[in-house]
Amino acid sequence: MSRVFNFSAGPAAIPDSVLATVRDDIPDWNNTGSSVMEVSHRSKEFVAVAAKAEQDLRDLLGVPDNYSVLFTQGGATLQFAMAPLNLSAEGQTVDYVQTGTWSKKAIGEARHYCNVNVVADSADENFTYVPPQEEWQRSEDAAYLHYTPNETIAGVEFSFIPDVGDTPLVADMSSTILSRPIDVSRFGVIYAGAQKNIGPAGITLVIVRNDLLSKARASTPSLLKYSVYAESGSMTNTPPVFSWYVAGLVFAYLKERGGLDAMAEINERKASKLYAAIDGSDFYSNPVRKDSRSWMNVPFILKDAELDGKFLSESVAAGLTGLKGHRSVGGMRASIYNAMPEAGIDALIRFMGDFESASA
Ligand SMILES: *Cc1c(COP(=O)(O)O)cnc(C)c1O
Repeated sequence: MSRVFNFSAGPAAIPDSVLATVRDDIPDWNNTGSSVMEVSHRSKEFVAVAAKAEQDLRDLLGVPDNYSVLFTQGGATLQFAMAPLNLSAEGQTVDYVQTGTWSKKAIGEARHYCNVNVVADSADENFTYVPPQEEWQRSEDAAYLHYTPNETIAGVEFSFIPDVGDTPLVADMSSTILSRPIDVSRFGVIYAGAQKNIGPAGITLVIVRNDLLSKARASTPSLLKYSVYAESGSMTNTPPVFSWYVAGLVFAYLKERGGLDAMAEINERKASKLYAAIDGSDFYSNPVRKDSRSWMNVPFILKDAELDGKFLSESVAAGLTGLKGHRSVGGMRASIYNAMPEAGIDALIRFMGDFESASA
């Protein structure tokens, strides 16, 4: 197997050992003589897969018993609509923190359903920092407060969980979930598309505190109601069985590797090394405020943008792929989720050094 170090922001790398299991399982999964994609989602074999995936996820994140774990479709983007439809009444005010492209999209969608109050906005500095909570202008009676703990595009991450008292806290954790332990009990709803740090695209994780399950507007379509997923074990209709199965393998793999404490230690080390290499050179730079830098997405620009094309083609030739930055930011972006081994960071840093020397 010839595998590259894949720095793609998403769909992103999946651990080699998980892929090997998938490959071996495909023709004859679990002695069924079929692949996992070809059996009923209500078969006892698949129901066991779904139950184990949920339990392993609960173990990893320490999800309290008064929370439901849902597996939905439509990606994080559909959650931008599901949050207001499930948690607010028509015309009610909701609070949002705007720290980048994804929170901006979440706000745009919520505006179709509610009165959105933007409590803080870092657009004034190109989304390169997290506005401190002391400066937020919260409303008195918001149905919830929504934020994006890690902005995947600009590489901006909250170093704190907002303190919002009794207001339900809703978080789009698509690109940071499972990168470190979190206190789930601080949140009303956590959601995440799978294709960054969980598994293949097509499945979305939603963790909801049970008292928030019954607040959906009457007109909400069934398949957009948290409660409908909770009551059916996320099997109201046919779920994306393959993505669910692979996500389960990833959860089991993370548990075997020592869980999220172990991942946090590795992820912090990976990110620190890479930022140190960027900060230590005059050739590369990262515009994000140091207290707001992401562990998972590390954008960097070259001193001379004319060299971008050469950097990208030579990096691919060196076995380092997916480094092209998002078009809104330019330059490069290294997404270094759990599946990126430390050796990949070392290889990238070496390549960056060599490229810089050759360009001098
Ligand atoms: C990727 C991403 C999304 C969009 O996810 P989809 O699953 O494609 O809808 C939303 N929010 C964040 C923070 C992301 O990283």
